[in-house]
Amino acid sequence: MSNSQKNDREKVDLSIVIPVFNEEENLHDLYSRLTDALSKLKESYEIIFIDDGSTDLSFEILRKMAQTHTNIHAIRFRRNFGQTAAMSAGFDYACGEVIVPMDADLQNDPFDVERLLEKLDDGYDIVSGWRANRQDGFFLRRIPSILANRLISWMTGVYLHDFGCTLKAYRREILENINLYGELHRFIPAFAKLIGARMAEIKVRHHPRARGKSKYGISRTIRVILDLITVKFLMSYSTRPIQIFGLFGLIFFLSGICICGYLSIGKLFFPAGVESGILSYLYAATGERGFSLIERMPMLILGVLLLFTGIQFITMGLIGELVIRTYHESQKKPIYVIRDII
Ligand code: UDP
Ligand code: MG
Repeated sequence: MSNSQKNDREKVDLSIVIPVFNEEENLHDLYSRLTDALSKLKESYEIIFIDDGSTDLSFEILRKMAQTHTNIHAIRFRRNFGQTAAMSAGFDYACGEVIVPMDADLQNDPFDVERLLEKLDDGYDIVSGWRANRQDGFFLRRIPSILANRLISWMTGVYLHDFGCTLKAYRREILENINLYGELHRFIPAFAKLIGARMAEIKVRHHPRARGKSKYGISRTIRVILDLITVKFLMSYSTRPIQIFGLFGLIFFLSGICICGYLSIGKLFFPAGVESGILSYLYAATGERGFSLIERMPMLILGVLLLFTGIQFITMGLIGELVIRTYHESQKKPIYVIRDII
């Protein structure tokens, strides 16, 4: 997104960012409920719709809205890039001091925005919506979601009840410091913790999806778990990869050295072989002498394997260190984030 595109527009207090993927039946209702809710606010606002490659009439509806209302903007992707990409485009385009993403299907309630803003004014950088009374299927959606939220809280140290709820309020500085990839939008609070954001949570309303279809199923849970591994790694080791890879590398390498050392000493000083005990056990157990290499020398193989994996892990850590330097230095991206300078 070019900066001039943004600078032409006026600064506003609040940007609502709404990803839209085949939601033609919901857009008119959404618009009228949104304007009812937002016109009561004292803050100036804009609404940014991102059409994530819809194949229905969604964009035609959005085009008309944007042409008739100056505070509505419609962005259209060339194809379906996913909800995270859509939100990310909206965040990049938004001019508001506060940015509030929301679903297009009216499952979130526009009348909750006011309460999010009030809470934000108490001195927070993020106020997270919590769908305490979630209106989605119990077994396929709510149970996996409860478990996933517990797991994410535990792994990231960010204690929220509902990472998946799109309706949250963010101060723009926070989002400016976060780059989203894959499906990482639900992990924004975790990344925000890394840059020292102050966070609060409030309960928000949640309605059943009245029209259109949900775009997700149970398979999302697995993808969330995989993403969590990335997030955990980035949170803990992204500026010091050698410390995690190197640790495993050293443990493996040293165990390998011990085992190989033990075998070498046996070979040199005890000609019968130190593992003759194991061999005779194997002979007795099978009554045969024709063992494969792996049966005859389990310790040797384990030792050599550990040596090599150890070296590989350490090398991976070193490559990681190079990558992280390229990442920070090529973008002149500091490894810290400043709140105020006085
Ligand atoms: N969405 C999107 N791109 C996608 C999938 C979904 O922009 O690839 C939008 C969708 O239109 C909706 C929001 O993301 O506004 C949440 O999607 P959905 O309601 O299907 O998710 P659920 O509420 O079932 O978790
Ligand atoms: Mg929905």
